[in-house]
Amino acid sequence: MSKIQMKMPLVEMDGDEMTRIIWKQIKDIVIEPFVDLKTEYFDLGLPHRDETDDQVTIDAANRAAELGVAVKCATITPNAQRMDEYHLKQMWKSPNGTIRAILDGTVFRAPILVKGISPFVSCWKKPITLARHAYGDVYRDVEMYVSGKATAELVVTYEDGRKEVKKIHEFKGPGVIEGMHNLDASIEAFARSCFMYALDIKQDLWFATKDTISKVYDHRFKDIFQEIYDNEFKDKFEEAGITYFYTLIDDAVARVMRSEGGILWACKNYDGDVMSDMVASACGSLAMMTSVLVSPSGKYEYEAAHGTVTRHYYRYLKGETTSTNPMATLFAWTGALRKRGQLDDLPDLVDFADRLEKASIDTIEEGVITGDLNALMDHPNKKVVDTAAFLHAIADKLN
Ligand code: NAP
Ligand code: MG
Repeated sequence: MSKIQMKMPLVEMDGDEMTRIIWKQIKDIVIEPFVDLKTEYFDLGLPHRDETDDQVTIDAANRAAELGVAVKCATITPNAQRMDEYHLKQMWKSPNGTIRAILDGTVFRAPILVKGISPFVSCWKKPITLARHAYGDVYRDVEMYVSGKATAELVVTYEDGRKEVKKIHEFKGPGVIEGMHNLDASIEAFARSCFMYALDIKQDLWFATKDTISKVYDHRFKDIFQEIYDNEFKDKFEEAGITYFYTLIDDAVARVMRSEGGILWACKNYDGDVMSDMVASACGSLAMMTSVLVSPSGKYEYEAAHGTVTRHYYRYLKGETTSTNPMATLFAWTGALRKRGQLDDLPDLVDFADRLEKASIDTIEEGVITGDLNALMDHPNKKVVDTAAFLHAIADKLN
């Protein structure tokens, strides 16, 4: 059988622990037998990040910005315990944070739905993709405890010395205040990433804020989205047969709960933090949650939403076989291959990504599953297998 050819390479970012093991298994068992895989390899495993003073992360992100499509394995974000475990020179920053800063992107997360594992919200038939704005608001706030009678004011001093002052509150007794900010440039980048990704997955885009209460701050978000939609995306949305829908956040939550899914839901930073956990847990397993970072200029970095699955890795090191779920990492690969295929006009590669996803979903739906799905899955003769056996079952279907 001749292998499917690629034109341009993917940026491949390898990672840590159990997901690093799975990474290689996925390539060996379900990709390389079928595709003449072209990648530019960057080892983002913690030992190599430490050796290169984290330069490898920056190089990988810059290369992703050039080539346009990357696939990333989960990586350790070091903490004090990892400093000892890996004898690190420094507590290196989160690779995802570094990559996000370079690509200036938005993260989109969507669950992989399979028959037999029903979302707890019974009307959800299609995945809900959640986009969280990753800058500002309460995550970059300045807070103060006011200990007694006081006047609190917002003061803005412009470069030329001009001042704008607004009273926040006349405190008669103790209380608290908080200062937040956001930036037009960041909101614009977020909006463009969302509109672009909606076109990509051909789903309606919903966006919500509390602009009736927050008449300047939240209203700015609403206005920027609307301006960018009207000026840059309206025609493309109409052509694709999808809509942009703006509403109030409480109305959006109520509508999402009653919807059948199949929408892209853009959220402000805090709303996204809270709602992504709700959507993820309502859909069952972190191991079935995919994630893609999309830059406003249309660069893509695909990954799994979960971490390096440390607990399984320690068992693996002791020689035990583990039944770690490779689905989200596998879907990172299919996402990246499909995108490369679309950009390079390679229908066979796009078709392979589709078939690989279908084969993996079919495998689960036939009852061949990893351990994490056992409690969630409703199937008369389900069979829990280890990671390699699960991948081989998928490869058999592809053959
Ligand atoms: P985690 O790796 O997501 O794992 C937490 C638990 O969730 C696991 O112990 C396992 O539960 C379950 N789980 C997650 N993925 C699974 C899969 N594919 N198959 C089966 N079970 C799965 O989170 P963590 O243990 O908090 O973090 C471990 C490391 O990952 C940390 O060093 C952190 O810095 C890093 N991390 C990286 C990323 C990223 O690169 N995007 C994201 C998050 C965390 P059971 O043990 O009960 O089976
Ligand atoms: Mg959260």
